Amino acid sequence: MLSRFDLRRDLVVFVLAAAACSSSSTRTASNSATSAKADKRVEKLAREKEAVVRFFQPMAIRDGDWLTTQKEAGETFEEYIASKPTLPTSERRTIYIQPIGKFTAAQKRAVALSADYMKAFYDLPVTLNPEIPLGNVPADKKRHIEYKNNLQIRTTYFLHDVLPKRLPKDAAALIAFTNYDLYPGDTWSFVFGQATFSERVGVYSLYRLSDTTFGGPNDKDRLLLRTLKIAVHETGHMFSMKHCIKYECLMSGTNHLAETDRRPLDDCPECMAKVAWAMNYDPVKRYQNLAVFWDRNGRPDEAKQFRAKAAAVEKVQ
Ligand SMILES: [Zn+2]
Ligand SMILES: [Zn+2]
Repeated sequence: MLSRFDLRRDLVVFVLAAAACSSSSTRTASNSATSAKADKRVEKLAREKEAVVRFFQPMAIRDGDWLTTQKEAGETFEEYIASKPTLPTSERRTIYIQPIGKFTAAQKRAVALSADYMKAFYDLPVTLNPEIPLGNVPADKKRHIEYKNNLQIRTTYFLHDVLPKRLPKDAAALIAFTNYDLYPGDTWSFVFGQATFSERVGVYSLYRLSDTTFGGPNDKDRLLLRTLKIAVHETGHMFSMKHCIKYECLMSGTNHLAETDRRPLDDCPECMAKVAWAMNYDPVKRYQNLAVFWDRNGRPDEAKQFRAKAAAVEKVQ
């Protein structure tokens, strides 16, 4: 049984976004003609994002939520553009998923569908690599904790030791999925995932995502929904997107699984515009692709919601 202290520590943390400023930008020096064209895109997206505001709830902060423990400033669409984010380039366009360790059949399905969802979400090719073993983890990058008598691996083992040397030349991002529990540093109890803002590598754990200790939807797809949310959220960080504080949004930080469960399966208007701009992805096409994903994967209400968003944006185009 968890003590109050353990419970509090156990509720900790979704994602530590490794705070490094992005260094690479895909945009080349522009002349005035291309700037004007770029401004038109920004103007158009600014209009299009307003068309979907009604589908989202303003951020509501409850006890124990991420924003009760973290002070964050948020980031508008315009601030994101000004931040010169790390983006896919013409040479680096593929998202690679690297499973590490062993997985259950349900987890394998969740990882495979995350690959499909990321493709629809970011409009980039996604390659799912064959599983590889964990390898020899140095003693200072692993520990045992009492929770389920668990072995935890420090995220830096993946982010520094394993992934950079495996980063393909055409990778927009290389994402490790693992069934090992993760921790980012000695003062943290665990972390669901960690991504870098500029190094194009990230690691996500499925270890706790079936957990109902702290509640969770009575939903056959609980593991799948949580995996998709974490995958897309962390990938957003890899394209330099900061946490969202304006709406209940897929890019909002979460402190515990109930908060993860509450988040929608989509980016809010502000974050949608960032993705559409970063990937040069028409929001109507994006919403339609996401609707098709949910048609194929048995959630007609989600599909309907995405179609309604597509129709709302189409009206202002
Ligand atoms: Zn995050
Ligand atoms: Zn957002």
